[in-house]
Amino acid sequence: MTAPPSPALSSSLVDRDRAVLWHPYASVVRPSPLYPVVDAHGTRLVLADGRELVDGMSSWWAAIHGYRHPALDAALHTQVDRFAHVMFGGLTHAPAVELGELLVSITAPELARVFFADSGSVAVEVAVKMVLQHWQGLGRPQRNRLLTVRGGYHGDTVGAMSITDPEGGMHSLFRSYVAQQVFVERPRPAYDEQLLAGDLDAVRAALEEHGDHLAAVVVEPVVQGAGGMRFYSPAYLRALVELCRSYGLLVVFDEIATGFGRTGELWGMDHAGVVPDVLCLGKALTGGTMTLGAVLCTDAVAEGVCRAGEAFMHGPTFMANPLACAVAQASVRLLLGQDWRVVVRHIGDELRHGLAPARELPGVREVRVLGAIGVVELHEPCDLALLQPELVDRGAWVRPFGRLVYTMPPYVSSDDDLAVVTGAICGALAA
Ligand code: PMP
Repeated sequence: MTAPPSPALSSSLVDRDRAVLWHPYASVVRPSPLYPVVDAHGTRLVLADGRELVDGMSSWWAAIHGYRHPALDAALHTQVDRFAHVMFGGLTHAPAVELGELLVSITAPELARVFFADSGSVAVEVAVKMVLQHWQGLGRPQRNRLLTVRGGYHGDTVGAMSITDPEGGMHSLFRSYVAQQVFVERPRPAYDEQLLAGDLDAVRAALEEHGDHLAAVVVEPVVQGAGGMRFYSPAYLRALVELCRSYGLLVVFDEIATGFGRTGELWGMDHAGVVPDVLCLGKALTGGTMTLGAVLCTDAVAEGVCRAGEAFMHGPTFMANPLACAVAQASVRLLLGQDWRVVVRHIGDELRHGLAPARELPGVREVRVLGAIGVVELHEPCDLALLQPELVDRGAWVRPFGRLVYTMPPYVSSDDDLAVVTGAICGALAA
């Protein structure tokens, strides 16, 4: 049941929170605005003071079916009545097996094996460890560095930080601590642009210089998410993969943000018709209900890792948590059981239409939409303390970041919901 609106509850929760908690990418000394949520259903977040916000973020790409979806809640209830968790070392269970089979069946035939991880960042760590251990298994331990493009983002753990853009990204502070990987310039051609001769010259030069020491190339296919919300050319991705493979590198795709239809294809890689050796999934995997990541790899990678019977050296306490696996299966089936392609395309059309007025606003550099992702890029970083309340006052939950005011709404959003979100973005930026 929805808690009754209460301004007192609202301010007391914020005060208590401020006294003990820390928030993502936030300062405790100069905290940014904070809004207590007492209920969430469908596309709505209900605040403690009674206001209802239309969600434009899907809780950072995850809640694709909105909040409290009956099919997802039912899957959780059914599983919690059986068992919430058992260790995965030496034990197995139907939720994990069924989810593994499902993921193998909907990605690519080459990706035959699944390793479950606790989150997106940990999935990236697992992928990195896999490719390193693969080369050790093959007697090539000097292949121990990674190639990636600038403008990427892969998570907040140490291995993931090492392949996240060191300049523009969030992790420049830790540069001396993280492994030094090989970065090339970010993909030049935007999604709709032609690939030109020379676009991969920097990649070729890096491969010439470091090729024998590179284990893999790691990229987000077609959409660079938190590193800049850029949409780049599928032809670039295809050429990158081909070139890297010609130097013997493995290919790792981070589809943690791009997966499950968000870009208009089920997977970002489908825009380019390429398949990696290792694929990382997360975020929308559980429909935004629980944390879960998955790493899929080819038999060849798995055999390299486990050469001579070696074990893969990773195994977290909550691996393949049954609740998370059960709800993930429900979420994926719910997605595939609908015409998600039409739904995503329609959201994209509404975002294109609704965000168009932002093009005329001072301070706006570009407005772009791909799939169900809408981005307004500003010339200068926004002032979150000013912009966030303007968005909330207009009835939308949109969380700007740096120069980006962006939305990836739940797939269950109505046209009216989308109009509230895009109207709030345009209105707040104009204020
Ligand atoms: N990779 C990408 C592309 C992401 O967008 C994110 C999350 N923003 C991550 C990895 C890390 O996932 P998590 O936050 O679940 O650790």
